[in-house]
Order: sequence, then structure tokens, then C-alpha cells
Amino acid sequence: MWGTHDLNFYQISQIKRVRVVRRADGYYAQFCVDIERNIKHEYTGKIIGIDLGLEFFYTDSDGLQVENPRRLRKSEKRLKRLHKRVSRRKKGGSNRKKAINKMARKHLQVSRQRKDFAVKTASTLIQSNDLIAYENLQVRNMVRNHKLAKSISDASWSMFVEWVEYFAKLHKIVTVAVPPQYTSQDCSGCGERVQKTLSQRTHQCLKCGTNLHRYHNAAKNILVKGLEVLGQKKSTDGQSETSNAWGENHLSLVEGNFGWLSGLVEPGNSRGDSWESPAIFGTPLFAAGGCQAVLKIQKVEAGTRLPLLR
Ligand SMILES: [Zn+2]
Repeated sequence: MWGTHDLNFYQISQIKRVRVVRRADGYYAQFCVDIERNIKHEYTGKIIGIDLGLEFFYTDSDGLQVENPRRLRKSEKRLKRLHKRVSRRKKGGSNRKKAINKMARKHLQVSRQRKDFAVKTASTLIQSNDLIAYENLQVRNMVRNHKLAKSISDASWSMFVEWVEYFAKLHKIVTVAVPPQYTSQDCSGCGERVQKTLSQRTHQCLKCGTNLHRYHNAAKNILVKGLEVLGQKKSTDGQSETSNAWGENHLSLVEGNFGWLSGLVEPGNSRGDSWESPAIFGTPLFAAGGCQAVLKIQKVEAGTRLPLLR
């Protein structure tokens, strides 16, 4: 047996659920373990907006760009070729079966690489910031060009966001999903709407002279929108007056006056009461019963008797 954690580390009473999962490359036993994870977030005084994209995995409001890993891009290309091969094979034939299995294994590899990247990137992001604003992807997919929003990227982005939310909860820091409308068009310097086509790489504002990479400009807008969303939340909570108009107010917030954020919202965007980590294979598994647990997985050979399933 091998796995991401050593199962012997836990008491049997801590294991709340076991699932047997079949994958293209074998059977797995998944253990839901009831443990509390206490992480102390080292406050950094940094708040950030991120713009998820195709060209770069994300660009943040400081202008930092995180690339899609080459390894993952390569695998995705290979996966596409394997898809084509399956469709060329005769239906019902043994060659098609083989091709399907090969494709399924590649799928698995890609989703594992994607997960690996999502976990590491999300963890780094959470550790180095106290507030993260990002675009609401569900809404975004409706407003953005569908041809460009490849399903592959959608999968990577959603997985990444799940992990960001997960780590934010653990670190007890704030995340906010903002409406994506006009984040790439509006000027982050003055709010002027500067129309641009998808091929235009830079944002140039004639009104205030702001000149930024288009994603950098978008990320700045996302951060401001995030603070506005939180500000609205705050004023509807009746704690104090905050102007949400596009203007000077949010700029002072960006300057670092965000002590008021603490206690304003639940850490992370709550999507349920469960504290489980996003699933091992990509899709989140929010369990009923809300046990504070991490999911772990161990590969088992066919015919192995699981000691815990006796
Ligand atoms: Zn401007």
C-alpha cells in the first residue's frame, strides 16, 4: 500500500468513512480522517486581486504573472491526440478498447498534474496574502468568449479556486469572488471604460495615462471590486458607512487601511460546512455530516483485504 499519508499515523476511531474508487490504473481506497488542522497564518499585510487566464495561469494586481506549467501543457496536447485516436478506431473493436484505456490513463495523469499545480499555487498564494479577490468563474464563463474558454482551462481554474478557498479557510483569511463584467475594459487608474479587443495586450488610458499589461489592469480592477463587494457587505451589516462608488474611497483601502476586514466575513467563501479538502481526483467531495477531515487515498492491489473494511 502506498498513499499520500501514512495511514498508521491515525487511530482507527478517527477514520470516519472509506470509499473504494475505481480508476483507469487501478483501485483505490479513500479514507476520510477526522482530524483538526490548525494553521497559523503569518499576516503579511498584503491584499491581492488575480486574473485567471489562458496565456498566463494568473496575473496578480502587482503585475506578477504565473505561467501554466510546460509539463501540463504538453500532457494536455497529448491527451487531445489520444482523443482523436479513439474516435478513429472501429466501434466495439479491441483496438478501440485499448485506445480508450490509454486515453483514460492520460486523463488521470493530467488531472493529477493539474491538481498538483493547483495545490502548490493556491497554497503559495494564500501564504503570501491576507485577502484574495478573484473573478466569479460561473458568471465569467457566460460573459466571455466561448471559443477561447476551453474546457481544459475551465477545469484547471475551478480546481484552483476550490483549493484557494480550502486554504483560505485553514488560514482564516478572506477571499472574495467578484462579478467579472468589464474587469478587462475599465481603467484601474480612473475608472474610464477603455474598449479593447481580445488581441490587444496593453491597457492604455488616454484620460489618466495609465499604461499596463491588460491582465495586470484587470487584476487591479478585480482587487478593487473585491474590496467594494466587502464594503457593501459591511455597510449592509450596518457597521459603518462606506461609499462604494468608484472613486477615492477604494484607493485608500488599497493603501492598506483594511483592518476593518477582520471579523467582517467568514474566512473563505463558505460553500458548505464541510472542511474536507477538494477531492483527490479533482471534483470536490463535500460530505454530509460535516466531519472535519482530510481525504486521503491509498492504492490497493486487486484482492487485497483492507484491514479497515473487515
Ligand atoms: Zn484611466
